[in-house]
Amino acid sequence: MSGAGKLWSLGTKIVAVGRNYAAHAKELGNAVPKVPVLFLKPTSSYVENGGIIEIPHPLQSLDYEVELAVVIGKKARDVKQVHAMDHVEGYALALDMTAREIQNPAKAAGLPWTVAKGYDTFTPISNVISKSTVSNPDDLELWLKVDDQIKQKGSTKDMIFKIPYLISHISSIMTLFEGDVILTGTPPGVGPVMAGQKLTTGITDLIEMSFDVQPRQKVVE
Ligand code: MG
Repeated sequence: MSGAGKLWSLGTKIVAVGRNYAAHAKELGNAVPKVPVLFLKPTSSYVENGGIIEIPHPLQSLDYEVELAVVIGKKARDVKQVHAMDHVEGYALALDMTAREIQNPAKAAGLPWTVAKGYDTFTPISNVISKSTVSNPDDLELWLKVDDQIKQKGSTKDMIFKIPYLISHISSIMTLFEGDVILTGTPPGVGPVMAGQKLTTGITDLIEMSFDVQPRQKVVE
């Protein structure tokens, strides 16, 4: 293990890639993109391994999306693909929790996904594992269970846009800083998780983490 630990806590943003696995784009009825679909999540949405994922009132469930997180180690602006990996510190496992009931009407109305993706606890994330311990980030098996049932299993082999391309493309739009995180998209099998259930997720042979899902305390005014 390197000292990178919770490097993401120093970052300025989470850049998430939508529809980066063709099979997931299809399961939600979306076209396979020709350029990456990008959106931002706030760093206030992080929750660490063992924490609680909160379902905001009055929703009954959230969708889980397991994703490989790329953690930036060195400022990147207008980086060429051939140099992109020099800017990576390591990798983490993350969940891109999504309030699909909020996202679907937003999509239909052409409105942003900020609310659907941005609540506190909507980005569960593991500690960072250093780049040197991952021989091939394009061949990692991601998996996710709800209670004891396996729901998602996929390989980063199936990512449409690979990590160097994503870093180059994103850094041509916005500067990436140390600790910034790129969420690289989810394989198929997304679905709902309800209060009282447990999410366990991992990268085979590298990371395992789990989270309890609970209702968020209703705000009393
Ligand atoms: Mg996602």
